[in-house]
Amino acid sequence: MNFLVNYAAQLTAFTDFSGALGARPDYVQGGGGNTSVKMAGQWMAIKASGFCLSDIRPDHAYAVLNYPVLRGFYRNHLAQDFENVEASGSAVAKEAIRQVDGLDSLRPSVEAGFHSLLDGFVAHTHSVYANLAACSDQAQAMMDKALADAGYGHVLVPYVDPGARLTFAIQDALTAYQEKNGRRPAVLLLQNHGIIAHHDDAAQCLHIHEDANQRFAAAFGTSFDAFPAPRMRRQGDALVSDTPWLAERLRGDAHPDQVLLEEPLYPDQMVFFKDVLGKTAVIDRVTGLVHYSVPEKNALTLEETLCAVVFIREILHKNGLNAISMGEAARRFIDGRESEKYRKSLAERNP
Ligand SMILES: [Zn+2]
Repeated sequence: MNFLVNYAAQLTAFTDFSGALGARPDYVQGGGGNTSVKMAGQWMAIKASGFCLSDIRPDHAYAVLNYPVLRGFYRNHLAQDFENVEASGSAVAKEAIRQVDGLDSLRPSVEAGFHSLLDGFVAHTHSVYANLAACSDQAQAMMDKALADAGYGHVLVPYVDPGARLTFAIQDALTAYQEKNGRRPAVLLLQNHGIIAHHDDAAQCLHIHEDANQRFAAAFGTSFDAFPAPRMRRQGDALVSDTPWLAERLRGDAHPDQVLLEEPLYPDQMVFFKDVLGKTAVIDRVTGLVHYSVPEKNALTLEETLCAVVFIREILHKNGLNAISMGEAARRFIDGRESEKYRKSLAERNP
């Protein structure tokens, strides 16, 4: 069987679907976010690690997995069953990879696990609008407000580092929602991370993703037009940012390097900025321009991520809300679980 020929229609739909999301720096910055499509109840094409959504073609930039294998692993286990859950999760993903003639063998996204649990088309982005809620200290309340009349279900997933543990957390959130509501939520908001929309139909999935983001933007008094178009220009051998919106905001000390580096709002911000910001990407605090001595692709990713982070922080501030960092969210989650245990132990002692 020739995979690329057999599934040509789905792979073309997957390409268009990924391209539509990848064209928007307010949805994905650099190689962030990922998409997948499931075929014939057995195969899942998912964006390969290290590629951008806009790189995806019917024969490029994705990996193919036997998704029922991956799904079974998560459905039949608990995170605590494993001594090293991340290693076990990636071993299963590796086993599930199918080599396809005519396709480079690439590593699937680390987020393949949660894609396997969801419907036919999955859009996962680090959208700045969803992240307004997801990176605020009022994530649940703001999501409930934004999506109240949306007509599709939504659930908040507490902050967990991306990987197998996050997949287990998503599975738990799906199960809890289903038990309560008798259906699955179409939208999942990942605290301090991003958003997932899923549907068996590609157009419906894109529609839900866009509609939810529009609603998030509106709930914070903003809109898609408010996000700038990140750009850069050459200056001799170096690259300099060319986004007036960003320069205006990076002038002075409203967004110091220390906050950008030490209080990351979402994992990609930490990954992209670490050992780069202040070293090979230097903000001139007089002009507000960023001077890059990294390859052009990386510079654009940094410019997009700076726009995203500054956008989120500024809009939250305008709304009188606090941005919370990943570390803070993780700490609160653990504290929450501790107090949960404490409440439980009290209840057991005093029935
Ligand atoms: Zn992600």
